[in-house]
Amino acid sequence: MPKRSDRSKKKKFRRTASGKAKRIFVKGKTGKHKCALCERILHGVPHGKTGAEVRKLAKTKRRPTALFAGVLCNKCRAKAVAEAAKVEAKAKKFEEVELRLQKYVKQVKG
Ligand SMILES: [Zn+2]
Repeated sequence: MPKRSDRSKKKKFRRTASGKAKRIFVKGKTGKHKCALCERILHGVPHGKTGAEVRKLAKTKRRPTALFAGVLCNKCRAKAVAEAAKVEAKAKKFEEVELRLQKYVKQVKG
């Protein structure tokens, strides 16, 4: 009887040198990266690859070079940068910034 956890795993069969069919477990593809705030799908980041496979890629193939690339989508990034500019210009207090944006506004300020 196979292990209970093995029963739901995806399987493939490989023929060994001795001619026997050996069962191997194949892992599924990884999902697409999503924006940390609105969960919109991020562009320019690899999907369907494991962490080790991503590490083997060139740096430029891992993520775009924009601010918060691979973390926030373009709309949320624009929102965070605009809020940071308002705080910088003292048009808005940091405490008045939307709570979920505060972390990113702080990073923009550096
Ligand atoms: Zn977003």
